[in-house]
Amino acid sequence: SRKFFVGGNWKLNGDKKSLGELMQTLNAATVDPNVEVVCGAPSIYLDFVRSKLDAKFGVAAQNCYKVAKGAFTGEISPAMIKDCGVNWVILGHSERRHVFGESDELIGQKTAHALESGLGVIACIGEKLDEREGGITEKVVFAQTNAHFREDNVKDWSKVVLAYEPVWAIGTGKTASPQQAQEVHEKLRQWLKTNVSEAVANSVRIIYGGSVTGATCKELGSQKDVDGFLVGGASLKPEFVEIINAKV
Ligand code: 13P
Repeated sequence: SRKFFVGGNWKLNGDKKSLGELMQTLNAATVDPNVEVVCGAPSIYLDFVRSKLDAKFGVAAQNCYKVAKGAFTGEISPAMIKDCGVNWVILGHSERRHVFGESDELIGQKTAHALESGLGVIACIGEKLDEREGGITEKVVFAQTNAHFREDNVKDWSKVVLAYEPVWAIGTGKTASPQQAQEVHEKLRQWLKTNVSEAVANSVRIIYGGSVTGATCKELGSQKDVDGFLVGGASLKPEFVEIINAKV
């Protein structure tokens, strides 16, 4: 069975003081040992966060580049992330796509390089409101999933977590209903079965993101194909502990 996975995505928030306090809260909390928890920190704080956060929590970078090193001012590589003791990276987040204009092609290259480098990848996908209203949600998320893994060089799918984050639900307080999330997750699992294998479809965690809160996490988390969450705003608050413990 799939281990429940709860990611926090701190985005461009916090400083050493506030993140230090948040980590104290997390370190002191009683968390369900059956849940894998990973906190996505701003890149400049990766080293700081890895040194302060209890070892029972994983840490993720929020982005990385598609090569290990070179003349790419401002970028960071999977090798550097690993050098900070950090084992995960979030790639293809909606904000990378829609604020920074990252293409499916670039995201696929980043995913391939991160996996080759030994990082775990939280691969994000999700439709915009007009795409949902236009009835093309499936088409969009299948194409994005295909692009993440298009180089077809995923050797270890246990290092992949697929995060379904409908754009209209991110930071809007408009959480997808448990039925809406389950419907897309089930289709994504079917896609993995058809395009990768049944074993991979059965083992890959598919997590939901978009305005997850302490109040909405239990019903969402009880859906058959919802294997956890990617949490933005609420991951910066003590409420994150409630979300981690959604299944208890
Ligand atoms: P919110 O939980 O703030 O809606 O953000 C979700 C998200 O983008 C996580 O990656």
